[in-house]
Amino acid sequence: MHVIIMGPPGAGKGTQAEKIVNEFSLVHVSTGDMFRAAIKNETEMGLKAKEYIDKGELVPDEIVVGVVKERLSRPDCQEGVLLDGFPRTLEQAEALDDVMSELNMKTDAVISIDVDEDELLNRLTGRRVCRNCGTTYHINFNPPKVRNICDHCGGELYQRSDDTVETVKERLNVYKKQTLPMIDYYKRGGVFASIDGSRDIDEVFADVASYLRDVQENTKDK
Ligand code: ADP
Ligand code: AMP
Repeated sequence: MHVIIMGPPGAGKGTQAEKIVNEFSLVHVSTGDMFRAAIKNETEMGLKAKEYIDKGELVPDEIVVGVVKERLSRPDCQEGVLLDGFPRTLEQAEALDDVMSELNMKTDAVISIDVDEDELLNRLTGRRVCRNCGTTYHINFNPPKVRNICDHCGGELYQRSDDTVETVKERLNVYKKQTLPMIDYYKRGGVFASIDGSRDIDEVFADVASYLRDVQENTKDK
């Protein structure tokens, strides 16, 4: 299965992605995570991407599409992938179709996680991430057992530099302007499901998993 998870920043894509890849044995491909790793390693691409990320803007399509194409070309992606944070523009969605058809893949499902704007702001400004393994927490909604320490690996938690109120507002504007218009593209493709992300993490996951089980059954039949 090749699945896309989309939704505004803070909707819970990364949180759901962690559960989905475990349950459905998919490879998690998060463009945001790939950029953050490249920034940490100070690669040329990472430094370029950082200029945009720090401002809350989208990294240019030609950089993102190149990164995703290289990742999807690796053998581990043949069996199944969960794309998280990509595509984010109509142009990226079209480019993804081209890349997928070159690689004999197709998009089996697109899940959009919907949450209203006030809640997104709360979620993003309270988000903390493990510096070591990348697990995501929230200071109130999903806190670690010990303050600032990752439950899984004992790593230190940090706040993403783009999770400030000002940058979050810009990222939400960018989502509305550049990403929302892409939804119609997938609605027309008939593989789109919209899920209410305002509920508890496990309730959201129950819906996501039930939808993906149906998709998986249909994919098997073909
Ligand atoms: P995204 O990947 O879409 O930007 P995250 O998965 O990182 O979003 O979630 C953003 C923040 O909201 C994190 O701090 C996370 O712990 C928290 N969160 C995720 N899902 C929920 C939920 N259903 N209810 C409350 N908080 C949530
Ligand atoms: P995320 O981790 O998904 O919230 O992404 C963090 C930041 O990385 C975004 O605000 C963008 O600047 C950049 N980014 C991630 N994915 C993409 C993409 N598909 N297109 C453009 N920029 C992206």
